[in-house]
Amino acid sequence: MVTFEEVKRDTEENARANGYFLNPDENFLNDILNGLKTNEERYGYRACPCRVASGNFELDRDIICPCEYRDQDVEEYGSCYCALYIRKDLFEGKTPIKPIPERRDPSKVSKAMEYAMGGGAPTPEETKKAEEKEEFVPIGEGKMRFWYCKQCGYVVYREEPPYKCPICKAKKEAFAPLHFSVSIRG
Ligand code: SF4
Repeated sequence: MVTFEEVKRDTEENARANGYFLNPDENFLNDILNGLKTNEERYGYRACPCRVASGNFELDRDIICPCEYRDQDVEEYGSCYCALYIRKDLFEGKTPIKPIPERRDPSKVSKAMEYAMGGGAPTPEETKKAEEKEEFVPIGEGKMRFWYCKQCGYVVYREEPPYKCPICKAKKEAFAPLHFSVSIRG
């Protein structure tokens, strides 16, 4: 089982190697790092804690931390989507850390959501069949649910709402469970 210290060390090393900094808000940082740790234990890889992960590696490949979008986001906006990795000027407080738009293709998000909603984990045969038909078999984990931030609309899939919204910084209390229905393409 991965430890919090291991996740922190890896993240710090990655930031150093790429010339980035980690968010200076310690509580916020710990919450994101714990989210990465939880996702590694849950899925076997460190899926982004600020996005919907499906549990299917192929569907989540682009959002395994550091995600495919980090470098572009740090360059353009000064921080990654979660505001875990930030640029020096934001770290030094010369530029404010602001919410940034999601760069991930919406079709990837909806596929992950379809996959993650309801049902049991698919067998390899079901996964192959679903991929051939462009259909995604959902997995379910009893306590997992979608939460949305009532302040900015940010959505996250986990057991509990985050300590703080990574986008608008609203407190945990600003999150409410999200209810919606999903139809699987046949
Ligand atoms: S948005 Fe940040 S925390 Fe999330 S996967 Fe990308 S680099 Fe990691």
